[in-house]
Amino acid sequence: MTESAVTVSTDPLGMTLGDFAAMRKTHPQAVRDEYKRMMRRGEGVALPAILRRVDDEGTVKFCLPAGEANGQQLETESVIIPMTSYRGTDWCTLCVSSQVGCRMGCTFCETGRMGLLRNLTAGEIVRQRLVARTIRTEAKGLNAEGGGGGGCAGRWWAEVFFGWYSEHCVHGDGRAAGQF
Ligand code: SF4
Repeated sequence: MTESAVTVSTDPLGMTLGDFAAMRKTHPQAVRDEYKRMMRRGEGVALPAILRRVDDEGTVKFCLPAGEANGQQLETESVIIPMTSYRGTDWCTLCVSSQVGCRMGCTFCETGRMGLLRNLTAGEIVRQRLVARTIRTEAKGLNAEGGGGGGCAGRWWAEVFFGWYSEHCVHGDGRAAGQF
């Protein structure tokens, strides 16, 4: 399977503000707030059901559907990791997938043995963050704006990073990185 080239997405969550405004045939300023609410809170878009989820002492690992290849159900894999600084500040780190499988071929690695099955789209990457947000909202009793409760200093994520160090170097569509 070849890697996907950078293309203009038809998935709103894979769009830049300019793409989104062009789809609506309007100026970006006219839809900026709507775009922001969609990207930050998932307003107006459907989020996928979680296929698998493991909770382990505050760390939550979850998998979302990513289509099929050779009759096999593909999944994204994301991890929410609670962190505490030496000053006692609590926050959460979110690790997201940008690919299914990996082409780097490290022999000790299960993901490497799969080979690269496909790159995820920008929208699929953004969905991981929105589902993670839903999980944290439910778990911590946070309000819809992301503040209050939960001991995370009113912040959703201090950092979002791509799982597997190689991914951001070899992925064909890096636009999602700017949409966090
Ligand atoms: S680069 Fe990372 S994910 Fe890819 S095969 Fe090596 S260890 Fe596995």
